[in-house]
Amino acid sequence: MSRKKFVAGNWKMNTTSAGAKALASGVRDQLAGFDRADVALCPPFPYLSLVADAVRGTAIAVGAQNVFPEPQGAFTGEVNAEMLLDVGCRYVIVGHSERRTIIGEKDELINRKVRHAIQHGLHVIFCIGETLEQREANQTESVLDNQLTWGLREVPKDQVDRLIIAYEPVWAIGTGRNATAQQAQQAHVFIRWRFSQIYDNDSAQRLVIQYGGSVKPENAAELMSQPDVDGALVGGASLKADSFVAIVRAAAG
Ligand code: PEP
Repeated sequence: MSRKKFVAGNWKMNTTSAGAKALASGVRDQLAGFDRADVALCPPFPYLSLVADAVRGTAIAVGAQNVFPEPQGAFTGEVNAEMLLDVGCRYVIVGHSERRTIIGEKDELINRKVRHAIQHGLHVIFCIGETLEQREANQTESVLDNQLTWGLREVPKDQVDRLIIAYEPVWAIGTGRNATAQQAQQAHVFIRWRFSQIYDNDSAQRLVIQYGGSVKPENAAELMSQPDVDGALVGGASLKADSFVAIVRAAAG
């Protein structure tokens, strides 16, 4: 089955309002008329609206980097799915390893975020991946299994088309050391198989699985030429329009 590739830029805690506007406009201008891959930009919360304005009327979507799973109320500093939809988001990243390790998010909260976002109509980029220690101890598949099992608990089958999985080995994020194409393919095959067990084969065949971890213009084409690597979640290289656009173009083959 052929799945359209999907490349998302995770800007993390970077840019300024002027920088965000310039970056989003640069990507927009260089990708004018391009529709051979799906594309999303995920800026920090304060710049969501201005990035949404910059890409309005194009095929480029906007995503947030976090969401809080409550409808409204006394949750100082948090932002819910309706707010994200209100400012023009289509996507939200959930379960990123930086939030798991630096902020201390646990599987249970991550699962609540996935369910909340999906129920409200957002498309969730759900990140999973093993540490170097876990890989070296041959625990990659059990870690992925665990993160999938927990993260997808009680996510109804009729909503899984709003789910994207990003396989992000922790040792490859921001390190300049990407997984090889074979390592990525192998992990993606496992993820698709596990997803088919949780849901069914049709849903698993439709599932878009991105690879994330030091994706650059130089390695993007090889990684995304793998049959189960359906795109990329890009951190560092998404902060320059030229390198991000080169990765998007590599996705289209
Ligand atoms: C990420 O933060 O999701 C990521 C993959 O970062 P980088 O591309 O910089 O490794």
